[in-house]
Amino acid sequence: MSKLFYNIGKIWGVENEAQFQKAGAEMAVVEHLENAWILTEHGLVLGFGNTEPPEAEQMVDLNGREVLPGFVDSHTHAVFAAERSEEWVMRILGKSYEEIAQAGGGILNSAKKLRAMSEDDLFERSLKNVKTLISHGTTTLEIKSGYGLDMDSELKMLRVISKLKEAFPIIIKSTFLGAHAVPPEYKDNREGYVNYLIEEMLPAVASENLADFIDVFCDKGFFTEQDTLRILEAGWKYNLPGKIHANELGYTGGVQAAVASGAYSADHLEHCGEAEIEVLKAGKTMPVGLPGTSYFLGIPYTPARQIIDAGLPFCLASDFNPGSSPVANMQIVWSLGCTQMKLLPEEAFNAITLNAARSMRLEKQCGSISPGKRADFLVTSQKNALYNIPYFFGQNHIEGIYIAGNQFE
Ligand SMILES: [Zn+2]
Repeated sequence: MSKLFYNIGKIWGVENEAQFQKAGAEMAVVEHLENAWILTEHGLVLGFGNTEPPEAEQMVDLNGREVLPGFVDSHTHAVFAAERSEEWVMRILGKSYEEIAQAGGGILNSAKKLRAMSEDDLFERSLKNVKTLISHGTTTLEIKSGYGLDMDSELKMLRVISKLKEAFPIIIKSTFLGAHAVPPEYKDNREGYVNYLIEEMLPAVASENLADFIDVFCDKGFFTEQDTLRILEAGWKYNLPGKIHANELGYTGGVQAAVASGAYSADHLEHCGEAEIEVLKAGKTMPVGLPGTSYFLGIPYTPARQIIDAGLPFCLASDFNPGSSPVANMQIVWSLGCTQMKLLPEEAFNAITLNAARSMRLEKQCGSISPGKRADFLVTSQKNALYNIPYFFGQNHIEGIYIAGNQFE
């Protein structure tokens, strides 16, 4: 059925000809249209304009409100068993990462609780998380495993993500992150765990078709550049592109490993110097910043300004997770990109829409309002939304959510 959305005050993020990403100076450009309409059919955008609107089978009056494309959150850990607020309080009291780990905290704390939870309970809890993400404007979502760290529990997490794909009309992509941490069973045998992951877990994940991407936590005290290269290469054998955690805690070769293996994205990059920027310029890997993590942990922000000024594209994501970034609201991520990373509102907007879609190779399907793309868009009563949404940070400015042309309740 054709649907006409008319009487739109302003549409942000329109494209007549879809671009695959925005890089460097292009990131400061956001096309918009005033007093406009959008025509959709079969869940896709057929066209938009500000001339006399065409006829359609269904007419939706948006009463002068503004419209923007749905947010694309390309990096989350939205399936978890429990929050870790007690660790957060320990951090406030000045306890170190090592002290918190010794008290049973960190990723292994999440793994312990997730292993003990049934698949049904995990699914119920995750449903709520995804509803929260969507209600703040996320209409395309990536979710990782990585709190199981053994065969049964990783498969349980990935099956939950598969059920979430069925339960929601948004696009959800699934990432196998068996290499999130070394589990206690392999405490002094990291290499043994990498072998187990490559030889046992990965084939099982692939045989059930449970993942779209593969991820490795390439960082100090976690997995090395060599481990990362091995795991990413093994992923390609099952047609799983890499999207990796790189350089959160140090200059660990994560960016080099991501680019060398053709990973779609290298995420975190709190430690990203000239050498890393040069490597990124020579490849096609999308640099992704996670400002919620820097805010919540009090660690440095990714040098987004230098990355964009070097002519590169840049993406922002929430890293929604119970340990280091419990933010499910991409409007706050947008705002942190502006205030903390010194991005223009336009640059941070492109970082959470078009470039985020590109980081999952979904740029032909979403990330802007463009003919042929999915009709995933948000309605806000906020005037001058491109500026006032990140400016009035912490609120939910989204009043209406349309996914493939249908209103999401
Ligand atoms: Zn993460």
